[in-house]
Amino acid sequence: MTGLRWGLIGASTIAAEHMIDAFRANGGDAVAVMSANAGRAAQYAAQHDIVKATTDLDELLGAKNIDAVYISTTNELHRDQVFAAAKAGKHVLCEKPLALTLEDAKAMVAQCRNRGVVMATNHHLRNAATHRAMRDAIKAGRIGKPLFARVFHAVYLPPHLQGWRIERPAAGGGVVFDITVHDADTLRFVLDDEPQSVVAMTSQGGMGQAGLEDGVMGVIRFSNGLLAQFHDAFTTKYATTGFEVHGDQGSLVARDCMTQQPKGEVLLRSAAGEEPLKLDHEKLYVRSVRLFQAAVDGRGAPSATGEDGVKSLSVAISTLEAARSGATTAIDLAAP
Ligand code: NDP
Repeated sequence: MTGLRWGLIGASTIAAEHMIDAFRANGGDAVAVMSANAGRAAQYAAQHDIVKATTDLDELLGAKNIDAVYISTTNELHRDQVFAAAKAGKHVLCEKPLALTLEDAKAMVAQCRNRGVVMATNHHLRNAATHRAMRDAIKAGRIGKPLFARVFHAVYLPPHLQGWRIERPAAGGGVVFDITVHDADTLRFVLDDEPQSVVAMTSQGGMGQAGLEDGVMGVIRFSNGLLAQFHDAFTTKYATTGFEVHGDQGSLVARDCMTQQPKGEVLLRSAAGEEPLKLDHEKLYVRSVRLFQAAVDGRGAPSATGEDGVKSLSVAISTLEAARSGATTAIDLAAP
């Protein structure tokens, strides 16, 4: 085996649907899985050809045949699991949001740095050919000075995921922690700029329970003055996704791009007319794992680092605060 040997912390849907395949596509494997429930751990291991099933985090982290862990439990559990993994010397790929508070997320990044392990946040959308092409086009000056961005990320939460996300505030449910964090990371990546403040309103369209929002609209001001509008929801069955950046010399219009699949298109509109950007689609999570593996080998950084996860969480926390208070809210980007 040429890739990393992964321990899965969390018998999750995302690991089953995307990440185990991504580890294997990179020459690695998932060699152990931990669940809070023994029966579930065993069943999940059997279903996905994983040799070891356990309910004991220390047992998983003590295994010499594990190089890295992938943490995809519910969000309130990430913090302690990252701390334990880093202490055990395992590299960490952690799901978003990294934690429920900024202080915790910063401490997680500091812990991984101090222990000398690679830490990444699984923000897959940076790996999309669409977003990479948009970033390149902006850097090449093809739209002039970027002035506005718009993110359309209102989707329908599929029935098999209608659990803790819409029921459990204590698990970090709600659309802002689930989707707005991805918008924030993708905006930072495409624009190569940092968000400064946000205004937002949240809504409950029938899915969110226990006070959890299932829709949000807001505007983020970036440090260069650009305004970015975002719209996220769990409740819209027929909306399409998109990402646009409008500059003084051109516009980039991407459609079908806020997705886990390697698809979508980007149109550049300018005085020269309309030009579809050439896209080299690759599976998003496969690319993410490839860059993580390279980082473990000392070649470059993961596509989204722990620090990137802190910043996207900071946008989410400020968005919730802005929606609660009705006030423009500063985004804390102090380094962890
Ligand atoms: P799941 O609900 O599938 O899994 C979360 C936890 O719920 C698991 O760790 C598991 O606990 C428990 N669980 C899952 N299925 C069952 C079941 N059938 N019966 C009982 N318990 C169950 O969550 P997701 O995979 O959707 O999300 C996990 C994490 O990944 C979250 O942090 C989320 O934000 C993130 N995520 C990221 C995505 C991305 O693209 N980056 C996409 C989707 C999710 P146990 O392990 O104890 O068995």
